[in-house]
Amino acid sequence: MQIGIIGGGAAGLMAAIQAHQPGIEVQVFDANASSGRKLSTTGAGRCNISNRSANADAYFTDNSAALKTCFESKPNLEVLKTLESIGIPTTASEDGWIYPLSFSAANVVGIMENNLKGIPFFHNTLITGIQKTEKGFILSTADRTQQYTADKIIVACGSPANPQLGARGDLYQPLENLGHTLLPVRPALTPIETDAVLFHKLQGVRLDAEISLVRDKRVIARTIGNIIITQWGINGPGVMNISHLIDPQHPGLYSLKINFAPNFSDAIRNSFMNSGLQDLSLSSILKGFFPAKIVDFLLRQTDLAQIKTCKELSNKHKELLLKTIQAQEITVRGVRGFKHAQASTGGIALSDIDPHTMESRICKGLFFAGEILNVLGPCGGFNLHWAFLSGILAARGIIRSQTKI
Ligand SMILES: Cc1cc2nc3c(=O)[nH]c(=O)nc-3n(C[C@H](O)[C@H](O)[C@H](O)COP(=O)(O)OP(=O)(O)OC[C@H]3O[C@@H](n4cnc5c(N)ncnc54)[C@H](O)[C@@H]3O)c2cc1C
Repeated sequence: MQIGIIGGGAAGLMAAIQAHQPGIEVQVFDANASSGRKLSTTGAGRCNISNRSANADAYFTDNSAALKTCFESKPNLEVLKTLESIGIPTTASEDGWIYPLSFSAANVVGIMENNLKGIPFFHNTLITGIQKTEKGFILSTADRTQQYTADKIIVACGSPANPQLGARGDLYQPLENLGHTLLPVRPALTPIETDAVLFHKLQGVRLDAEISLVRDKRVIARTIGNIIITQWGINGPGVMNISHLIDPQHPGLYSLKINFAPNFSDAIRNSFMNSGLQDLSLSSILKGFFPAKIVDFLLRQTDLAQIKTCKELSNKHKELLLKTIQAQEITVRGVRGFKHAQASTGGIALSDIDPHTMESRICKGLFFAGEILNVLGPCGGFNLHWAFLSGILAARGIIRSQTKI
């Protein structure tokens, strides 16, 4: 049986390694000049490969039940064991983010390629056409100079997030033409652009905060995570994890409510009451909790800069300060585009595939893996976990289909 894998990224490489078995001829097509270009930049070069909390509930998708089946078919520990079995042992940080022991994304790509010695790779080969025939598939390139045949194919071509790494969306239309449902593709895990005036003196500040996304006065999502305040808005996992919920066509409908003290407002309250701290300046008390620029901002916002010592603070002042710390609301202007996005939301509907095998329900013999599908995880290794998990399942699906012949 001949298998064509479109995309030599995280999902495609894993699928190729797993499908490379006696009786199965694998060939990989990739538009880039080399494999795993995006994979080699992940986790700022350290490759945040998985997460201890990776489970179906952590992801956004059109079909949670199908995703649950995927995770049940190959539990997390088995995915990590598979990585180890191909030469990529892993380790977890205290917060559950999992990395290769080498902490090197480049090494991960190199090791995966080394597992695929002897397999034909067609680099610089942009597939733009997929034709189903009686015997299998014909894949064609844009200029139609090349055509390739395969009995079965795995589509693992990712999403358009980060086009500077060669990411693209050329296959959405051909897949839709084959009958698949294409859900609107939007940038995800991307910074949020906000009103520049309110925080303009806070540029460069980095801290953990609780962010609520508000639409029509209603909180539609809430996260706690690291944020970085920039000239144009807010960056960092704390906002990136909710960016896909903003409709880029109507950003004016949204605002962000920021709580600068996500887990320690009680500790601040206690400091205001602490008899040993009453002679400290208000600025010193606040500097025990926040970077200096945030302290200046809070004092300006509350007009309390004239208060010299903590003992001068009235109950009203204390409440005003706590409210200012916990509920800064800032208008959303938009989200940064695919160029800045680490992932996408939308793509081919998960409902279109059999989650046991990753085979399309609509086009038999066509399997999917990775970010081409409408499955989006938060920052922290969830998206690579999905790429590897779905790559393993697609290869297993193909092997099973071969034994059925
Ligand atoms: C800067 C950055 C950092 C990230 N860091 C992390 C992280 O630390 N942890 C994490 O979990 N996730 C991270 N991600 C997300 C993660 O990289 C992706 O979710 C993952 O790579 C998706 O795997 P994939 O195989 O589906 O797609 P890709 O890895 O994008 O691979 C798709 C491949 O298909 C090829 N291709 C596309 N279209 C065609 C076509 N028509 N013909 C031929 N070839 C084609 C592309 O050239 C590419 O090589 C990061 C993303 C970015 C951009």
